[in-house]
This record gives sequence, structure tokens and C-alpha cells, in this order.
Amino acid sequence: MSFQAPKGTFDWLPPRSERVLAVREALVAPVRQAGYGYVETPTFEDTELFKRGVGESTDVVTKEMYTFEDKGGRSLTLRPEGTASVVRAVLQHSLHNGRLPVKLWYSGSQYRYERAQRGRYRHFWQVGAEALGAEDPALDAELIVLAWRGYADLGLRDVTLLLNSLGDKECRPAYRAVLVEFLRKLDLDEATRARIDINPLRVLDDGRPEVQAQLAGAPLVVDHLCEACKAYHEEVRLLLSDSGVPFTDDPKLVRGLDYYTRTTFEFVHGGVGSQAAIGGGGRYDGLSEMLGGPPLPSVGWALGVDRTILAMEAEGLLDDESDARVQVYGVPLGSDARRRMFRLVEELRTAGIGTDMAFGGRGVKGAMKGADRSGARFALILGERDLAAQAVQVKDLTTAEQTEVPLAEVVEILKGKLQ
Ligand code: AMP
Repeated sequence: MSFQAPKGTFDWLPPRSERVLAVREALVAPVRQAGYGYVETPTFEDTELFKRGVGESTDVVTKEMYTFEDKGGRSLTLRPEGTASVVRAVLQHSLHNGRLPVKLWYSGSQYRYERAQRGRYRHFWQVGAEALGAEDPALDAELIVLAWRGYADLGLRDVTLLLNSLGDKECRPAYRAVLVEFLRKLDLDEATRARIDINPLRVLDDGRPEVQAQLAGAPLVVDHLCEACKAYHEEVRLLLSDSGVPFTDDPKLVRGLDYYTRTTFEFVHGGVGSQAAIGGGGRYDGLSEMLGGPPLPSVGWALGVDRTILAMEAEGLLDDESDARVQVYGVPLGSDARRRMFRLVEELRTAGIGTDMAFGGRGVKGAMKGADRSGARFALILGERDLAAQAVQVKDLTTAEQTEVPLAEVVEILKGKLQ
């Protein structure tokens, strides 16, 4: 019997896996530069944290959580998203009593028992950024601009920013009532009807054409914003325009998690298929209180690394599959040469030169094939005769040119050549 990765999960393998690391780094580089600090939280938390934080009416909580009881009888859940954990950590360690806003970023795997398909996995990776403890449209705009730059730095062009405001606790209840009244009159299936009472805004997000057709005349939250929310939203829009970040107003954008207030946004990509959202986020002014903390107006985003990779693939940005992990590759011939090469490899690595060597006692042909495959620029061939002469053959693998250099000088010589 052979094992397979569980359904909805997959492995990243070289050389693509190296690109994945680079993508994660590129997406968070702008927030790091903007003073956000790294936070790492556990992969599992008290189940109640997500029930309260993400919301009992969401699909994530009702259908998708990996929940289990540990040997101590505690109910724990593999994190389905990062924000609830970050807020929990801020409250637990009283970071909110220091300088505000608290700016944090994270990078980690998330777990949701979803219907697996292209772009939708049960184990996926997000990088995220959160700014906690300030109500300032410039903070919303800052985060959006930083995410936008992350995508741009990766070379992505086909990204669209969708923007909306969901109102706040002043104006949302009145809007909700108007929306519920409208939705009750529609011809909907039972499950969707049930959703009207639990989370009516989510009905707007229903992708099915027969539902969307009926929603054409639905009341929109933008038309029901209170003055404060309207002014706030206008300021975010202005700051984005000033920054040259194009956006599309999407009055039906509600997103799947319950905690959002005011600004919500999503980045969609034209080449990813049905799971087009490559990232998203928004303001969550009430979340801290939902978790038993003080009022802590905050805003954040999570960018899906796996879908960003799909987007890059669609734009041909990952076509270069070269696998140059090392610059130099050692080919020792004979056991004395092997011992000397082992030491030389370590000397090269210590000098900062990426180096590998032939293992497994292969003959010269197999070892040279290994050198070619490694993507290295130079092969170092060390035979018994070279060893006796305290020399080594340096072969340039791009030109096939071979020169003999003294063993004692090879590190310095290669350093010079590889500069
Ligand atoms: P969310 O936490 O649902 O707001 O999602 C933020 C981003 O994470 C989305 O825009 C996706 O790019 C990514 N994402 C969410 N769920 C999945 C999933 N099941 N598989 C892959 N990526 C996902």
C-alpha cells in the first residue's frame, strides 16, 4: 500500500517549492518595510475562539472546521484563518496597552474542510497583516496599498481590487432589516431561506446565476451608510486614488467572515478560474469585544499564497523552472579525493558559495550528470592525480572550458569568478 497526501492537500516540491517561499516573502516585504512586526501563533486554538471570532453563522464555523478533542478533553480546532488568533494574542499579551496601532504580520497554513477543487484546498497558506487599535481611513488605505504593491512586485498585472463598505453598528442593523424584507419576497431554496435569518448579507454573495438574477434590485449597503461611514469610505477611496491604486466599487462584496465592518475589499485575478479571490480583508471594529476584549478598531488582510501562485502561473510568471540551488558541484574520483572534496565543499560553503557534491559513489559519468542537473555554474573535478599535484580541475558548465587551479587557491578563485 502506498500513502497519498490527504484529499484537498498537496505537496510543494523543488523546484517550484523554492518559488513558493519567494512568493511568501515578496508578499510580506511591503508590510515589513512599513513597520509591521512578525507574529506567530499556534496552529490550533480553543474551538470557542473561532466560534466567537469568525462567527457561528459562517460556513467556516458550521461546516469547515477541523475540530478535535485532545487527550485532556479540550475542544481544539486547527486554525481556519489568522485574524482571530492574532487578536487573541494581542489581548492575551496586552499589546493594545502599548503604542497603537499594533501592526503585525503572519505567514502560515490554514485548515478548512472545503469542497476541494482547483484553487480551493483543505490545507492552504496565507500571509496576513493586521493593524489593531486605530480607526483611521489611512490605515485601511495603507494596508490595501501594501497588498497591491506585493502583487505588483511579483509581476502580476491582471489583479482587480474590489472595494465596499459594510457600514457599522449604527447603520448596519437598519440596512439588514431592509435587506431581509427584500430577500423574504424572493423565490429561494430552503437552505438560502434559512440563511436570510442567520446572515442575510451572505445571500448577496451567492454565486448561482438564478439567485443573482433575483438580486438585481436588492437594496445595497452603500445606499444605507450613516454619515460617519460614508465619510470614512470616501476618505479611503480618495487615499487609494491619490496612491494610484485603481479599484472597482462592488456594492455586493460582503465576504465570508462575520466580523467585518466598514471597509471590505478583495483582490481578484482573471486567470485563476472560479476561485478568483487571491486575497482579501477589511475592517473588523467589533472583533476584540466579541472575544472579551476592549473596543479595538482594527483592519487587516489575508492573501492566499496558493491562489497567488495559480495567478502567476496563468500570467506565465513561473515558466522558468530552472533549479539552480548551488553554484558549484564537486566531482571526486576515488576515496582519498572524496575525503578531500568533502572538506573543500565545506570550505566553499563557509565562504558563502552554494555547493553540492556527488554522493553515493557514482562513476565520473553519473557524477557529471549530477553536476549538470544541479544547475551549478562550475564543476570541481578531483582525481587521484590532481590530489597528488594538490590541484583541482574547474570546469565551467556553461562553456565546457576546463582549467587546473591549485587546491589551496580554489576557494578564492571561485569567489572571484562568481562575483
Ligand atoms: P479569507 O480568509 O476567506 O478571507 O481568505 C483570504 C484569501 O485566502 C482568499 O482570498 C484566498 O486567496 C485564500 N483562501 C481562502 N480559502 C482558501 C482555500 N480553501 N484554498 C486556497 N486558498 C484559500
